Amino acid sequence: MITVNIQKKLKAYNGVQLLHLQKAFVPGSITRITGPSGAGKTTFLKMIAGLIKPDSGIIKAYEVWFDADKKINLPPQQRKTGFVFQDYALFPNMTVKQHLEYATDDAAWIERLLAIGGLDTFTAHKPEYLSGGQQQRLAILRALAIKPRLLLMDEPFSALDIKMKGGLLTDLQKLFKELQATVIIVSHNPQELDGIADDELVIGSEV
Ligand code: ADP
Ligand code: ADP
Repeated sequence: MITVNIQKKLKAYNGVQLLHLQKAFVPGSITRITGPSGAGKTTFLKMIAGLIKPDSGIIKAYEVWFDADKKINLPPQQRKTGFVFQDYALFPNMTVKQHLEYATDDAAWIERLLAIGGLDTFTAHKPEYLSGGQQQRLAILRALAIKPRLLLMDEPFSALDIKMKGGLLTDLQKLFKELQATVIIVSHNPQELDGIADDELVIGSEV
């Protein structure tokens, strides 16, 4: 079980807003996070990933990752956590294949991921020669390459057309189950994960 109980002061131009989140994520489940722009969805994901520190509280996953009282903060590389950034954060000088080889040396797994993402004929391309949709798919595949136990995805399907999204989601859902990954997906489109998400967390809904 991944349990989160954290506090964080969000600093925006119009003042400070306190984010207090308490949530348990069932292992192997897919959770959709929704909420208005600026509510703290991205910040929340980054805190779970260990990229941003909460002000206080605890993040417990497989072992304690962050405990403000005990001053424990396990380094991100020890967490088997994949992250899909909203802006992809691809490496400009690496080809599609090198992005995946950087994360794993399992060649068969790389081939499978490339096929699922429809990038098997683009392995030698660098990001600037890929379409927006292809770049986004590469970001997803790179996060999966480490066979994550926890997969955090920030608007991971925003650049995909509907036809591509349908097939990809079906394949990804299968893959998530196979990896027994706990998946947390931020999505501004509430219908996007219908039939796929097992759970939902709404951040900042009370107005
Ligand atoms: P969302 O993803 O829901 O649109 P964000 O998490 O991107 O919201 O941002 C929510 C608010 O938190 C913004 O006002 C932003 O300025 C603020 N914020 C972002 N990062 C930090 C941080 N590291 N510390 C404090 N506040 C932050
Ligand atoms: P997608 O639905 O995956 O975003 P697009 O319809 O945007 O695909 O792009 C179709 C093709 O055009 C891509 O396979 C890609 O090779 C090429 N393409 C798109 N954008 C760019 C770009 N900025 N630079 C080079 N090639 C591009």
